[in-house]
Amino acid sequence: MELHLKGKVALVTGGSTGIGAGISEYLAAEGVAIAVNYIVDKPQVDEFVDYLNAKYKVNCTGVYGDVSKPADDDAMVKQVLSTYGKIDILVNNAGIWPTEDMKDMPDENWIRVININLNGPYLMSKRVVNSMIERKIGGTIINISSKSAFQVNTGGHGHYTTAKAGVNMMTRSLAREISPFGIRVVGIAPGMVRTPLNEDKWNKDGLMEDYLTRIPVGRFAEPIEIGYLAAFLASDFARNITGTVIDSTGGMLI
Ligand code: NAD
Repeated sequence: MELHLKGKVALVTGGSTGIGAGISEYLAAEGVAIAVNYIVDKPQVDEFVDYLNAKYKVNCTGVYGDVSKPADDDAMVKQVLSTYGKIDILVNNAGIWPTEDMKDMPDENWIRVININLNGPYLMSKRVVNSMIERKIGGTIINISSKSAFQVNTGGHGHYTTAKAGVNMMTRSLAREISPFGIRVVGIAPGMVRTPLNEDKWNKDGLMEDYLTRIPVGRFAEPIEIGYLAAFLASDFARNITGTVIDSTGGMLI
């Protein structure tokens, strides 16, 4: 695709693994400079950034920080602005997906999931939106939500589903507020995406075939496919799309 994104700068949280890596890779393929946020494994991030720069001739860098900590969010945004001068695209992708029943989990586990999966996207969005308004540049915030924000198919994910449903409403509320500044806010709801982590888990639990039967298109998505959608949504071709969450579940929400 030629989405006319060359020269844009994106900050992708949790951007070096799984879906985040697919998004970083496809945005880089479109000529976007990516600030790849990470919280663990700096050598892996350095290797990924070198790969993107060599393959796509872009200027990507790694940015350390925990999205749930306001001081880290301040530092990340400051670092990206001092490196690139602006942020055109924020992808709130970082997230965790633990399994435990609501009635049994320690309070701090609930709070941790809400902090990372819901408060993190809010804290990052607020900072990046203000940087866009200051520079009068407009831009796009993309929130990675989930099928689980709409449907509860299995137990053990009450904190996760609650956080993702909150992300959907934050997407709408923020879009309502900041549309006048030329900033769009859009969510993506993936269904089941093949990432190294969940593929291992699905194989181990012997659930691969069972999961496939729940996906009408009959296949798991690849991370790069979420990247295609994120790049389109960040582009001017999507200028009429804001305040909504796009279903990318292969029909799981039908
Ligand atoms: P993943 O574990 O590969 O990626 C998550 C990334 O977030 C990792 O790099 C991790 O280090 C990072 N991260 C975790 N906590 C962080 C924090 N506090 N600060 C900064 N980074 C942090 O998993 P994934 O499957 O690629 O998930 C990416 C996003 O997609 C998540 O928001 C997840 O909820 C969502 N999602 C995934 C699927 C799927 O099938 N894989 C389906 C629906 C939604």
